[in-house]
Amino acid sequence: MSTDSIADEITQGTQVRQVEYVLCDGTVFFRVEHTIFEVPRSRFTEHSEVFTDMFHMPQAEDGQDIEGRSTGRPIVLEGYRAADFAALIKVLYPTIDDMIEGAWKLTKEDWVGVLNLSKRWGMKKIRNLAIAKLSDTTLSPMEKVVLAREYEVAKWLREGLNEIVSEHPIRPPAELKSQLGADTACTLMWIQNQALPAQLGAGFILSLGLLGCTSCQRAMFSNDRNCASCTRTISVNDRHALYFAPGASITGIVRTQHTLVRGPAPTDFVINLLDLMCRGCSNCAFTSGNYICPSCALSTGYQHFRLITSNNTIDIGISSQKILEEFGDEIARYESWDQ
Ligand SMILES: [Zn+2]
Ligand SMILES: [Zn+2]
Repeated sequence: MSTDSIADEITQGTQVRQVEYVLCDGTVFFRVEHTIFEVPRSRFTEHSEVFTDMFHMPQAEDGQDIEGRSTGRPIVLEGYRAADFAALIKVLYPTIDDMIEGAWKLTKEDWVGVLNLSKRWGMKKIRNLAIAKLSDTTLSPMEKVVLAREYEVAKWLREGLNEIVSEHPIRPPAELKSQLGADTACTLMWIQNQALPAQLGAGFILSLGLLGCTSCQRAMFSNDRNCASCTRTISVNDRHALYFAPGASITGIVRTQHTLVRGPAPTDFVINLLDLMCRGCSNCAFTSGNYICPSCALSTGYQHFRLITSNNTIDIGISSQKILEEFGDEIARYESWDQ
């Protein structure tokens, strides 16, 4: 085949495709803690201006060893962990084995290390990847807040704070304080208090119509009933006919089956009917036993009633709004990473 005919073929639509490859611009030696890493430079400069600048530093005079060119004179990265650096190398330079297995063999701790380095060196793409990988693991609300603050992740701060205030009962103040600091703990407890349904606040007002089925959460009583002790009529919407026995408590449980609900899991409040007293006789207004739901026909045991609140949950609208008021500046600061 003559040179001419090849040239013709190219002009006739043959495409020249360049395969993305690791540029052969040489390797560089880094020392992190007591380990020396020899790595290709290319992806460091591609992903981080810190390294572009570092590699463009004026070279040493003739006859001197150039920093980073040999094991004898590596570039020393002070204040970093070798394990974190090794994890970052795995992400920057995946091996054929990584490809075959379809995933990197990185632990949760490795990804935190990658997040740390990518944040400090401004590697946005890698940072986003680490956040996505860690979001796929199980992060507790506390972990989210702690990691969010250390690595400036707006999404985790918002999620973590919302999850903490939606928990019921609230975590012990000592735990909140030791992990999140006194200021945050205090603000979160205040927000949680604001967001409690009005009935659970001071005075606790409850009516017959707010007692819900454990299965479908709808109202169990649609008609007036008589007090089990004095037979006095208790109307469905009378908010003064019943009161909560002193010393009794309401258990909050987080609803788990609602996987489609985004954001914090809703909390249900469980009521034991034997804790509900009649204002007329000061005795219990109900009897033990099972009650059949008029909506779903399933039975609810007397100790498993659900409190029907405005949306049957702690008011998540109020708490997330308060979180934005109290922590909005901090969240916005971290969001600058996403721009
Ligand atoms: Zn029901
Ligand atoms: Zn009574």
